[in-house]
Amino acid sequence: MRIKLWGVRGSLPSPVSPDRVRAHLDEILKQFEDLKRSNSPLTATQFLDLLPSHLTGGYGGNTACGEIITTKGRLIIDGGSGIRNLSDELMKTDPDCSDYHIYLTHFHWDHLIGLPFFMPLYMPGKAVHFYGAHEDLTEALHILFRKPNFPVPYKVISPQIHIHKIEPRKPFTIDDMTVTPFALDHPDPCWGARVESAGKSVAWCVDTEGTRTSPEELGPDLPLYQNADLMVFDAQYTFGEALEKINWGHSSGPIGIDLALREKIKQVVFMHHDPSASDEAIWDGEEQTKRYYSELLRSRERAGLDTAGVEWHFAREGEVIEL
Ligand SMILES: [Zn+2]
Ligand SMILES: [Zn+2]
Repeated sequence: MRIKLWGVRGSLPSPVSPDRVRAHLDEILKQFEDLKRSNSPLTATQFLDLLPSHLTGGYGGNTACGEIITTKGRLIIDGGSGIRNLSDELMKTDPDCSDYHIYLTHFHWDHLIGLPFFMPLYMPGKAVHFYGAHEDLTEALHILFRKPNFPVPYKVISPQIHIHKIEPRKPFTIDDMTVTPFALDHPDPCWGARVESAGKSVAWCVDTEGTRTSPEELGPDLPLYQNADLMVFDAQYTFGEALEKINWGHSSGPIGIDLALREKIKQVVFMHHDPSASDEAIWDGEEQTKRYYSELLRSRERAGLDTAGVEWHFAREGEVIEL
């Protein structure tokens, strides 16, 4: 199973401005000049590899879109602005594909705005299958393809669209994948998904605040998380911001770490980065989470508790995770 992240920002596409690129280049050159003066044996490439990622490309600016690829199938989760690059890639690498499968967690704009740029929607003979647990799934798509907001009306794409209304917590299959929707903690209903194939499992948990913090509170949604090979989790905020933004529907690194350790999740990737946070601020959030994680493991060790850890990192647009 491969998971590719095409959009990892939350709420609003957030491209890096030319001024920020220039500032990053100035900082890199300054550090490189310091390195030269110190007679370091490092090559330029080795030096670049050591720089923090916010100086060398950052985390990416497109909103939520993920792709899960298995031996026999492909599932797209959400249609944020990242889906445009995925569409371009599919047109180049798999032009004869006839069926596309898109799972929509909810209808906030950052999870839909890329859909009008998903090219198979305009290609007669292609079938684009939408899966969602919301009653108003069809209406949500109609709203996207309507004047004066978009020039192409829904009737142009409707022959290609196939709506699949799915039931909460009831598994369904797409190719060789079993997909089960579970409720997340978000102001408007948002359905995460557990995707399983060939013995591997992904828990897609974006957008969520992670307010239910015990197995009892999670109740029927607990199986979303248990023993997952990978959890994709919401870390829009630092822990301090999350405490201030109650009921905003987003979470932070430490909350996801706690959940992962409790439910024996093997790996976590954090996404839905705050659109108003610079890449430096997101990097700071990742460092803060590292400090939290180290202290948590140390305190568990002191208390004689299980010190089994979890692999985790903050997502970067375009990255691929192999399970
Ligand atoms: Zn969102
Ligand atoms: Zn949302």
